[in-house]
Amino acid sequence: MSADGDRAIPSGGQPDVGGVSTDDALRARFSRDVSVVVGTPDAVQRPRDIQDIQDAVRRCAATHTPLLPVGARTSTTGASVPVGGGWVTDLSALNGEPVVDTDAGEISCPPGAVLAEVQALARRHGYDLPVDPTSAPDCTVGGAVATNASGPSSYRHGAMADWLVAVDLVDGRGERVELRAPRVPKRAMGPAAFQSSPRWFAGSEGTLGIATRVGFRLRAAPAGSLGALVGFPTRRDLLDAVAWLRQRRHAGAGRYVRAVEWLDAACCALIAPLAKGMRVPGGQGGALLVELETHDAGVDLVDAVSELLDGITPLNADVANTQLLLNPSDFQAFDHLRHHVPDSLNRRGRRLADDAGGGKLSTDWSAPVTALPDLLDWTDTRLAELGLDGLYMYGHIGDGHPHLNLLCPDADVRTRAFTALKEQLARVVAAGGVPVSEHGIGKLKRDLVRPWLPVGAVAAWRGLKQAFDPHGILAPGNVFRP
Ligand SMILES: Cc1cc2nc3c(=O)[nH]c(=O)nc-3n(C[C@H](O)[C@H](O)[C@H](O)COP(=O)(O)OP(=O)(O)OC[C@H]3O[C@@H](n4cnc5c(N)ncnc54)[C@H](O)[C@@H]3O)c2cc1C
Repeated sequence: MSADGDRAIPSGGQPDVGGVSTDDALRARFSRDVSVVVGTPDAVQRPRDIQDIQDAVRRCAATHTPLLPVGARTSTTGASVPVGGGWVTDLSALNGEPVVDTDAGEISCPPGAVLAEVQALARRHGYDLPVDPTSAPDCTVGGAVATNASGPSSYRHGAMADWLVAVDLVDGRGERVELRAPRVPKRAMGPAAFQSSPRWFAGSEGTLGIATRVGFRLRAAPAGSLGALVGFPTRRDLLDAVAWLRQRRHAGAGRYVRAVEWLDAACCALIAPLAKGMRVPGGQGGALLVELETHDAGVDLVDAVSELLDGITPLNADVANTQLLLNPSDFQAFDHLRHHVPDSLNRRGRRLADDAGGGKLSTDWSAPVTALPDLLDWTDTRLAELGLDGLYMYGHIGDGHPHLNLLCPDADVRTRAFTALKEQLARVVAAGGVPVSEHGIGKLKRDLVRPWLPVGAVAAWRGLKQAFDPHGILAPGNVFRP
């Protein structure tokens, strides 16, 4: 059965490109993303071009039908699940070749282009788009921008919003709108927050429009990168080293620290049996991975890393057992190991949830690095008081953004752990941190975020929503409660 009489109706589980389908199996497939949120669409559209998107939006606006744009549906927050039904429009087929503008140092991409493929194309032209969410091999650029994704390299390179210069979109009336960043560095035209409209779109999670093209500025590809994995006897030593490294972000002439990542002792123990000859530190503080990069082929990064290691030796770093990552295959091997940590915790969490209503709880807050020692000590004490164990910590410690993962054996422990994490969050925010730092907000984190939003944020968002989506049909329930 078709949801739109004049369009192609597929017989199987995937609508033809350009088609709209109400096929049960297909609707079921679009009822989930990577989160626990479930919601079945009434119909799924697979637009072949902008006209198809405009037609869908106009039809939905006229009938007050919700419309949710989706990319690869790797959202972990329910952002790509149509809770409450309506139409889903699947942008993943709009994945033609991105265009590199070598004069401007920019790349313009269709929304369904896969982020890692865009990055590979940029590199073939001698450029780099350095934001590196773990989902890059799967996620679309439309989804990555709409969630303002980021990864380990946020330490030096920030998030998608920091590289975004252009968004073409279809708004909630079905009209085409172009958002462009000014091409001049100096601007003083009233509040700074209103001076680069692509930033309105970054993190809007489908609520303001459907991106039909996104443009990024590029930087010159680095001439070299190097990683050093170094262990610490205690967490306090490791955090002292992070504070020391933050004071040396530029690591000397032409050398930059790109990322400072943490695996705690529990995570190191998880990956050590799979390490195949790679040295994984065994100290109680866990390990730091420090990544350096340079744009100057004449710079020796081994020298640069030796200098950094000399600097952290007095902080009890186990420098003698440092594992260097010297080439892309070393980085690949370590990435593979590192991804084993969330994969294995997610699997164990799902088993615990199925067995006794327990499961995995994890945090996404970030706090000033100087506040981390007290925050983490408080967490140890609080979890011990509650009789909780099974804590695994890893992530972007250089940005004060460690992911804390708690494996809860049953529903009771889960409830107590949740209470402890809420108390922890109040401390994070009191220390100047934020409750959510990547992965977007979707439906799962909107109530968590709401109390911490800056004054005026909700009113400002309502104004933007009215301007871009006056009928309120786009991505209802994402970011804010409708
Ligand atoms: C294994 C794994 C690792 C991950 N790692 C990270 C990480 O390191 N950092 C991080 O930030 N996130 C991470 N994520 C979360 C998520 O994958 C990313 O946020 C990703 O960029 C979303 O892209 P997507 O194409 O899957 O979008 P989807 O999940 O399909 O959609 C996400 C949101 O974007 C909107 N959207 C999608 N396309 C468009 C469009 N064309 N126009 C308007 N809105 C649109 C949707 O409406 C939805 O609100 C990870 C997820 C997984 C499963």
